[in-house]
Amino acid sequence: MPVLTRLIPSPVVVDIRAGALDDLGGVLADERISHSGKLAVAVSGGSGARLRDRVAPSLPGADWYEVGGGTLDDAIKLAGAMKGGHYDAVVGLGGGKIIDCAKFAAARVGLPLVAVPTNLAHDGLCSPVATLDNDAGRGSYGVPNPIAVVIDLDVIRAAPARFVRAGIGDAVSNVSAIADWELANRVKGERIDGLAAAMARQAGEAVLRHPGGIGDNEFLQVLAEALVLSGIAMSVSGDSRPSSGACHEINHAFDLLFPERAAAHGEQCGLGAAFAMYLRGAHEESVHMAAVLRRHGLPVLPEEIGFTPEEFFQAVEYAPQTRPGRYTILEHLDLKTDQIKDLYADYVKAIGS
Ligand SMILES: [Zn+2]
Repeated sequence: MPVLTRLIPSPVVVDIRAGALDDLGGVLADERISHSGKLAVAVSGGSGARLRDRVAPSLPGADWYEVGGGTLDDAIKLAGAMKGGHYDAVVGLGGGKIIDCAKFAAARVGLPLVAVPTNLAHDGLCSPVATLDNDAGRGSYGVPNPIAVVIDLDVIRAAPARFVRAGIGDAVSNVSAIADWELANRVKGERIDGLAAAMARQAGEAVLRHPGGIGDNEFLQVLAEALVLSGIAMSVSGDSRPSSGACHEINHAFDLLFPERAAAHGEQCGLGAAFAMYLRGAHEESVHMAAVLRRHGLPVLPEEIGFTPEEFFQAVEYAPQTRPGRYTILEHLDLKTDQIKDLYADYVKAIGS
């Protein structure tokens, strides 16, 4: 008999609403994630302290751990400090670095992770990957998906706008990433996981088409859900393909070529996506995407994040080397500097100023 269905690795709890943090302990108890209330909570030194005051009353049995930064060493240190504590679960409460550290540390000590992001900067909050700085630069480590994701929209609204806006660029870039996947399917015969593609595409389209902005909870709800679905789409396909194509290669190229000056992940991915849409001849879609990114205050030109057009050409030309084996519009066109220059001039004209 054929397998009639498949199990999808996904969180047991996804709780996205205003005030979600106020009864975090109750939610974890009700969902049988933590009977005893014994939790290890990882927070940052800075903004984490403020949150601690707010969350501590609902987590009376928790031990609190301050995480230094976003390095592999920080994550290993955290795992070492928590081990032997007989916890039910690890709670990562903070921005992307804290969540990634907590993901890695939880995996290392064999505990489930509850992700409580305090901004919406990218789609890593519910993905099976921890991105950590190591001695060689930056590494992506496979980890289990979080068992629960709790996003308090009141907390998100209080985060610096730039860290919320960036997530829009990451979500919208799904639309470009899926177009790359379809191209690889047509040209190279790469198999598309239809469910992963559907989840990632719908997440990207929902954010792209939503008329609201980061000041209203309706939009933040859709954005948070989109980022969660993008993470689960990656779990479904078993790699980052549904949410990462030429857009992300351009982003990685910025990070690698200009490590000191790189902008936020989502900012670079949004710019990369708008340009990649133009490269593939989807001019109308590119212009629309650029207009949406602009409306949200996100960059659509390299100068808007402090890069010259020449540096952008360099990044676009270098981009395919950042993900060997991934076929996108960049590998397909195999552009040289002069061609990139010409296409960029057309792109700038198309999106207007
Ligand atoms: Zn991303």
